[in-house]
Amino acid sequence: MQSWTRRGVLQRSAMMSALPLLGPLAGCATTVDPIKTSANPLFTLGVASGDPWPDSVVLWTRLARDPLHGGGMGDAPVAVRWEIAADEGFQRIVNKGMVTARAETAHSVHVEAGSLEPHRWYWYRFNALGIESAVGRTRTAPALDASTDRVRLALACCQHYEHGHYTAYRHMAAEELDLVLHVGDYIYENKAREGRPRLHNSRETKTLAEYRNRYALYKLDPDLQAAHAAFPWAAVPDDHEVENDYANDIEEHGRQAPQEFLKRRAVAYQAYYEHLPFRRASRPVGPAMRLHRPLRFGRLASINLLDTRQYRTDQQCSGGWGPRCAAALDPAATMLGREQERWLDTMLNGSATRWDVLVQQLPIFERARMRDGQLEHNMDKWDGYTAARQRLFESIQRRDRGGMVVLSGDVHEAWAGRLKADFADPKSATFGTEFVGTSISSGGNGFDGKKSRDGMLDINPHLAFYNGRRGYARCDITADAWRTDYRVLPYVKEPGAPISTRASFVVDRESNRLETA
Ligand code: FE
Ligand code: CA
Repeated sequence: MQSWTRRGVLQRSAMMSALPLLGPLAGCATTVDPIKTSANPLFTLGVASGDPWPDSVVLWTRLARDPLHGGGMGDAPVAVRWEIAADEGFQRIVNKGMVTARAETAHSVHVEAGSLEPHRWYWYRFNALGIESAVGRTRTAPALDASTDRVRLALACCQHYEHGHYTAYRHMAAEELDLVLHVGDYIYENKAREGRPRLHNSRETKTLAEYRNRYALYKLDPDLQAAHAAFPWAAVPDDHEVENDYANDIEEHGRQAPQEFLKRRAVAYQAYYEHLPFRRASRPVGPAMRLHRPLRFGRLASINLLDTRQYRTDQQCSGGWGPRCAAALDPAATMLGREQERWLDTMLNGSATRWDVLVQQLPIFERARMRDGQLEHNMDKWDGYTAARQRLFESIQRRDRGGMVVLSGDVHEAWAGRLKADFADPKSATFGTEFVGTSISSGGNGFDGKKSRDGMLDINPHLAFYNGRRGYARCDITADAWRTDYRVLPYVKEPGAPISTRASFVVDRESNRLETA
């Protein structure tokens, strides 16, 4: 246990007596430092912004006096004042209003603040019950017809709370970015397990109350709050926001009736929506949540966020790593669902920006490995949905131009490589590039070293890079070139790690040529 200052002990005991909350986990390794996180008595989960458009951005917060135990806000609605200014000191307020935070959505607030100017910084804050929130900073997207010369992104995912600290976010908050992209595993549903750097706060999350308290635990983290307060985010969930490896209405092991699993998916999506800066169009209706959506950065980049869980057909063959059986080639199998496939085809082929970016969860290039003399693929990824991938690749290749980048996550490892017309033929056309970000904390410290994982760089010649450290990918997009820097940490099991750039890559837009920078 850490040692506390006298003042800290007094605050802590005052807080604990105010909150009669200590369940069976009290007295174990600390989950959250209540001294740091109770700094604001109402806006305990911080502020955030997201889905920037040229003239508007979503402003988010959630009122929670007792965040780990349902919020402590009672059933009554609460009026919340919001304001957004062109300066940090709020001398030039450009828009403001009142909104009602309701118990049905956990007293969360999602304001679509409009009347903004393109591609500029704004500052925002909330006030409720006489208490002011922290100030957040956000940035609008460039005008649709602007020939923007530069956009900078960070790609993040997979932040298992028990596996380590969010040091990566502390460093990310100090970067210069237009947008943070989060491609899933924002929370993990798993039950608390002792003996790790930090501790989950319940059994495996299944009820709305349990999901909400899990989000609250994660969002109490000051480093995560700092990264949200520094930039707008755009997020899409992966599996752990609901349950490991779920597919559409089928839970991980297929033991639960689909109608029953959909009830769990509905509360999981509800809690996800409540804790992230989504637009109204993404508000869940029962078990359905509209997550695939476009963001535009002038004439420079079209960003399409995709959903690879909600509409997919079930994983085939082994379900995970294993030999590819015939079912993995089934043309009826789908990762995006037919409607999202058609939507994406329209977006890609109607696009006239320098770059088209797909932001989604799962590695899309082939990643084969050799086990006991047999070639294996992971059936949860696009490698298990080869016909669906072929349809997507044909859709991309109909663009007949360069500037195609896929950003993905999920595997807790950094990878970079080329998208090939035929992965079995190294001489076939290269029509794009994929960067897989590593995890923020999932997997613990990870490892570096020269070994290519299971010899996969040799077996898959289209792959150019592998690294097993934690961190994020920083992307710098200009008209003719895309640069990705893999920002990595030597450890996450202890706080305070320094950050460094492990590798850098540059893609030439016209030729799709991927090179080490
Ligand atoms: Fe993950
Ligand atoms: Ca995942």
